[in-house]
Amino acid sequence: MFKKYFAWSFDDGLEQDKRIVETLRRYGMGAPFHLNSGLFGDKTYEGRIGNLGMTEVPAARFDPARRHLLPYVPHFRIPADEVCQVYEGFEIASHTRDHVNLARCTEEERRAQIADDVTALSEKFGQQVVGFAYPYGTGAKQGAEALRAAGVRYARTAHTEGGFRFPRDPLRTNLSCWHISGRTFQRLEQFFAAEPVDDDLFFLMFAHGYEFDFGTREGNWGKFERICAAVAERDDVVCCSMGEAFARHGRPCE
Ligand SMILES: [Zn+2]
Repeated sequence: MFKKYFAWSFDDGLEQDKRIVETLRRYGMGAPFHLNSGLFGDKTYEGRIGNLGMTEVPAARFDPARRHLLPYVPHFRIPADEVCQVYEGFEIASHTRDHVNLARCTEEERRAQIADDVTALSEKFGQQVVGFAYPYGTGAKQGAEALRAAGVRYARTAHTEGGFRFPRDPLRTNLSCWHISGRTFQRLEQFFAAEPVDDDLFFLMFAHGYEFDFGTREGNWGKFERICAAVAERDDVVCCSMGEAFARHGRPCE
C-alpha cells in the first residue's frame, strides 16, 4: 500500500509563524520552517503588488505616511532568543545564513552561506538540519554541490509544477501549489481524488506567513484555516513535515 503525504513549507522565520504554528498544532499538521540564522530579529515591510509581496522596505526607512502607495505588511523576523520556543516540535530547515541569491554568489560564498546556516540552526535547535529552501527560488543548479557537502538531503524551489509525485532529484523539489493560487482547492481536490497506485504521493503547499496578512481574496488567514481543515479531515492523507515525508517515502508500509 502506497501512501499520500501532505506538508506545508514556510520561509523566513516571521512573527506570523507564531499564529501558523498554533494553527498547525490544532490540526495536527507538520511543516519545515526555513530560517536564516543571520537575520533573527530583522525587521522589514513587504509591499504587495497584485497577488504577491514584491517590494521590501527596511523598517528604519519605512514611512507610514506613504503607505497609501502600496499596501504594506510586516515582514518581522522572530528574535534569536524566542525562536526555539516558538518552533518547538517542528522541523527546522535552512534558507541560507543571510537570505542570499545563490545564483549570484561565488562558490566560496555559497558554501559559507549554506554550511554556516545548517551548522548554526542544527546547534541552536538541537536537531540535524537536512532541509533547505532556495531564497528567491533560484540557485538549484549552482547550489547542488554546496548543499550536498553540508549534508542537505532535500531542497525546495519556488516552481509550482511539482504535481503530486516525490521528485526524482530531492535537491529540486518543486511545489504542488502556492497557497495564494486561485486554484488551491481545485489542486487539493485533485490530490484527494488521486490514487497512490504505483508510488507514494506528496502534496507540498508553500506559503510565507506575511501573505496571510494581505487580507485579499486569495491571501488571508481564513483561507489558511480552510486548507488545514480540508486536509486534516482526510483519513488517507498523512500530514507531516517535508523531512518526515522524504524519510518515510519508499519504506514498506506498516
Ligand atoms: Zn525567503
